[in-house]
Amino acid sequence: MRVLIAGAGIGGLTAALSLHAAGIEAEVLDAASEIRPLGVGINLLPHAVGELIALGLGDELAAIGVATAENVYCDHTGHDLFAEPRGLAGGYRWPQYSVHRGRLQLMLLAAARERGIPVRTGIRVDGFDQDADSVRAAGTEADILVGADGLHSAIRARLHPGEGPLHWSGVRMWRGTSETGPFRTGRTMIIARGPGDAELIAYPIGPATINWVALLPVAPPGPLPGDADWNAPGSAEDLLPHFGWDLGWLDVPRLITSSERVFTYPMVDRDPLPHWGHGRVTLLGDAAHPMYPVGANGASQAIVDARALALNAGNLAAYEKTRLPETADVIRANREMQRTGHARDAAELAHITGTYRRKTRAG
Ligand SMILES: Cc1cc2nc3c(=O)[nH]c(=O)nc-3n(C[C@H](O)[C@H](O)[C@H](O)COP(=O)(O)OP(=O)(O)OC[C@H]3O[C@@H](n4cnc5c(N)ncnc54)[C@H](O)[C@@H]3O)c2cc1C
Repeated sequence: MRVLIAGAGIGGLTAALSLHAAGIEAEVLDAASEIRPLGVGINLLPHAVGELIALGLGDELAAIGVATAENVYCDHTGHDLFAEPRGLAGGYRWPQYSVHRGRLQLMLLAAARERGIPVRTGIRVDGFDQDADSVRAAGTEADILVGADGLHSAIRARLHPGEGPLHWSGVRMWRGTSETGPFRTGRTMIIARGPGDAELIAYPIGPATINWVALLPVAPPGPLPGDADWNAPGSAEDLLPHFGWDLGWLDVPRLITSSERVFTYPMVDRDPLPHWGHGRVTLLGDAAHPMYPVGANGASQAIVDARALALNAGNLAAYEKTRLPETADVIRANREMQRTGHARDAAELAHITGTYRRKTRAG
């Protein structure tokens, strides 16, 4: 069997590695002229880390990631509201890692190339033709085509025309990294809430590198006007009036202004689809189930998809039957978390985070 994967993001590369480990030939095509380490920090939850360890990438991952020890919810003065241990410290079987997205992508790319998996760049997959014998896309023929082409998936648009604009929570996010050194345990993720539902998430992705995301509600929820681009430049000036917070152990204005680059991105998702693909074509990762990042689940769910695909490559219906309902639950749980997560009470936060873990079956 030969599998063609459109998209060399976290999902597409992990799928290629998982298929290869299962003895299935895979080839990856990416529209970008070269794979560059784009993005800022992302989180890999224990269940996804377990899949990467099973692929023999545990040491590489440990070398580029920071093993998260705790999530701490606090207010904008640095007063703790609720804390939960994470990863190994939380009793999970595998660590949780915070990592630079681009470094993770390059690590997966290097592993794919070492294992002889062809990854070709500068090739956009815009559509496909399929019949009983094969599927053809971008001049290549295969038994299966996997659309792992991200939020603006061309394969999804082809499979599900007329879906309309992305769904926007009304929250805008600003993201950056700063070399401001460790805070608290050096392995702590903080979720700080201030007036006007302003929220700051910060966590280390290296010994001195802190990743931060500042969130502000700026519009009522609804269809997204305009575009969602992970690389759109943002301005620290827009944020500082809302985030002049001194948490005691973290100077938030310094964190924000120390970033060389600030990116802005609307918090968007899509409703779960009734089905992903048909015939020899399916979807994976953000192409299949774009979700709010509130549960830190986007990359993790793409990695879990990859494993399920490798187990069911000969039966795409079985792959979708497993993964579609699970990821639909995560989309819904993320929306609920986004709506309710502004609680300031420890018992309520414990309930909300516990419910989230249960609904997403996530570590
Ligand atoms: C540039 C970029 C920066 C990001 N930064 C962050 C971040 O800082 N924090 C965060 O939480 N998440 C970020 N994300 C999203 C995050 O990577 C995903 O939510 C998650 O990892 C799931 O990945 P995925 O492989 O499904 O999709 P993606 O990571 O989006 O990968 C999709 C890949 O498909 C390629 N592609 C797109 N269209 C086509 C096409 N028609 N044909 C062939 N290839 C195509 C893209 O070049 C990309 O490499 C970013 C995504 C991108 C693309």
